[in-house]
Amino acid sequence: MDPLRFNPLLKRLRWGGRRLGTVLGKPIGAGHDYAESWELCDHGADQSVVADGPLVGWSLGRLVQERGAELLGRHAGIRQFPLLFKYLDASDRLSVQVHPNDEQARAHQPGELGKTEAWVILDAAPGSVVYAGLKCDVTRATLAAAIARGTVEDCLHRVPVAAGDCIFIPAGTVHAIGEGILLAEVQQSSDLTYRLFDWNRVGADGKPRPLHIDESLACIDFGRGPVSALVPRRLSHNGGDSVEELVRCPYFTLLRHTASRPVALSFDDRCHALMLLEGSVRIDDREGGLVLERGATLLFPAASLPQIVEPLGRSVFLQVFWE
Ligand SMILES: [Zn+2]
Repeated sequence: MDPLRFNPLLKRLRWGGRRLGTVLGKPIGAGHDYAESWELCDHGADQSVVADGPLVGWSLGRLVQERGAELLGRHAGIRQFPLLFKYLDASDRLSVQVHPNDEQARAHQPGELGKTEAWVILDAAPGSVVYAGLKCDVTRATLAAAIARGTVEDCLHRVPVAAGDCIFIPAGTVHAIGEGILLAEVQQSSDLTYRLFDWNRVGADGKPRPLHIDESLACIDFGRGPVSALVPRRLSHNGGDSVEELVRCPYFTLLRHTASRPVALSFDDRCHALMLLEGSVRIDDREGGLVLERGATLLFPAASLPQIVEPLGRSVFLQVFWE
């Protein structure tokens, strides 16, 4: 099985913009509300579909179920691809939200996963912030009172961010993405989001959007405290090239390669995903090779490895897999 490219699923939402097209090369139309590009997704009716090659037209869900041994190697037999990969363009800030953990998700909606997520910032307007975790002294009682008064912003930990920063948001962490930010997101494949504050805004119909206050308070981890941009752990470096471990958690491992020389991906009996954040690379998987540009996402089935990722100039890409 060759490396797989999928068609992006573009989501248009009020807070989106145009950078998914102008910066990341996604096929957007004329609107200014392109918010998310779902790059790899096997979640109910939302299915990534193979874009080209012998498996063109196959959904990721069908591949997991019918070609699991080649796609997933040692993880064959799972019911669903467990991760969801997105690019996200926020020209306005998103609502303040929290996601349940696996146990809370199962109790709320059987068959659904919790959501732990990680963001890598690709572009941020000067002065951009994200909100990650609660300030140290915020308890359940003070947050509940702030929700009732519409003053939740006072409880949130603000994190100034710039391109290259990475924020890790375990389930139970209150968070919001601020305006002006373009990012790559890796998360558990789940759709359970509880909104606890929407900045006192109203929707297109003039009414506030619904909040999920009881659900939010039930799954917030009040012991988490403020969350800062993480400090990457450098695994190796060679001149200007480096491999950094950004996240290693029970759900996924996120490595960042900064490379001007070829990077070998070896066979380890599982699949690996690549998100190309900067530059372009060639994959020598087939006749003439496959050239990927900034914003591309590629899934290396277990059976496609080993492979060489050859940067055309300097490139930065994420490599994602799970234990
Ligand atoms: Zn989230």
